[in-house]
Amino acid sequence: MGDAQQVERAAAAHRLMAIGEYTVRRIAEQTDAHNRWAVDGWEQIAAEISAQLGISRKRASAQMSDGQSLIERLPKLAAVFAAGQVDFRVIAAAIYRTDLIIDTAALASVDAQLAATAPSWNTLSRERVAELVDWMVIEADPDAIRVAAQRDADRHIQVRPGHNGTAEIYGEVRGPDAAVFDTALDELAATVCPNDPRTHKQRRTDALSPLSARATSMACLCGAPDCPAAGTQVSSHPMVINLIAEAATIAGTSTKPGYLPGYGAVPAATVTELANSAALRPVPTADELGVEENYRPSAALTRFIQCRDLTCSFPGCDQPAVGCDIDHSIPYPHGPTHPSNTGLKCRIHHLLKTFCGWTDRQRPDGSIEWTSPRGRTYTTSPAGARFFPQLGIPTETLTLPNSPPPDPNRTLAMPQRHRTRTQDRAYRIDYERAQNRARYEADPPPF
Ligand SMILES: [Zn+2]
Ligand SMILES: [Zn+2]
Repeated sequence: MGDAQQVERAAAAHRLMAIGEYTVRRIAEQTDAHNRWAVDGWEQIAAEISAQLGISRKRASAQMSDGQSLIERLPKLAAVFAAGQVDFRVIAAAIYRTDLIIDTAALASVDAQLAATAPSWNTLSRERVAELVDWMVIEADPDAIRVAAQRDADRHIQVRPGHNGTAEIYGEVRGPDAAVFDTALDELAATVCPNDPRTHKQRRTDALSPLSARATSMACLCGAPDCPAAGTQVSSHPMVINLIAEAATIAGTSTKPGYLPGYGAVPAATVTELANSAALRPVPTADELGVEENYRPSAALTRFIQCRDLTCSFPGCDQPAVGCDIDHSIPYPHGPTHPSNTGLKCRIHHLLKTFCGWTDRQRPDGSIEWTSPRGRTYTTSPAGARFFPQLGIPTETLTLPNSPPPDPNRTLAMPQRHRTRTQDRAYRIDYERAQNRARYEADPPPF
């Protein structure tokens, strides 16, 4: 599988680079004479490529510009792509999100950084890849920061009448404001009982009115006089949105952006402004933490782990810190409560490790080597350290047992399914067949 995947990646690169080379060469041969023709030089090249590959002229055109960008703007990244080391998904994000860089030195620096790090991004989600490219761009290109300031100045929300009694709300808002709003809708939508007939999406939308009226609950529509949700209110604790930034950014002496999990880079000026009213909690470095006495990590260690890891450590898993358990890689007390022995795992991957033969081994820099029940190994590095490398600075190397006994503090029990997967499939097929039969019997086709 892995070999085929690498061949597939290299083949995709080969095709795209061939398209790019042909495009670049043909453009060089063309004169400017027909630039204003509807079928200009580019369109003529697209026609040849679309005919050769049997694809539409739009797809041909998109691949021409991708290939051209790789050759002319990101040659170092193109080389690792050609070697089959990077997925096209990552390449596409890199091409698109670096497109506004015009300074050649900045572009060359971003290209070199991408070539060095993109091969380790294949397991990351589309959103995380986009955040990482943006992070590089915003650091390398001062104009990109100016663009961010302009976008920030253009922030707006508009409400306007739609059709059939609906309305449209749209706008562009600051990431932290969006995160607060999003969480507030979810919290209100959760104040009804499970028998409320609306979907989660509908309830979130209906939460808009109570939210605007500063209500702390929304009415349940289950219709039961003894609805168990009566009196349920949103938590009175203040909502917490974690924005991670360096001290210099908070103090206003650095242009390095802050990072908002799920939203990406937040411009330094916004971070400085928000810091005036936000509660500031220092994130300790790993060497300030050391070994802790207890099984449960302290608040400081928890904060460190959540910032360093950001998500579950299983390859390809993007579950954010809020939905994750903090797990001792080597079970306590055989392994200590220490930055180099604790990390984030979502419930599914925590259960997988506890009950299903997967093991993990944590390195001092927070990266984790997972071993499958068949002995294959996969190493992931902590997501937060990609944005703030100081979080991944290795501390002391712990001396840990090689095959520790099972976790004596094991509190997880394997949750049970109501129906097996096979029963579930049979049930679904029966249900749909019965529906089709009922429809047919109610309205048989004429013969
Ligand atoms: Zn109810
Ligand atoms: Zn996971």
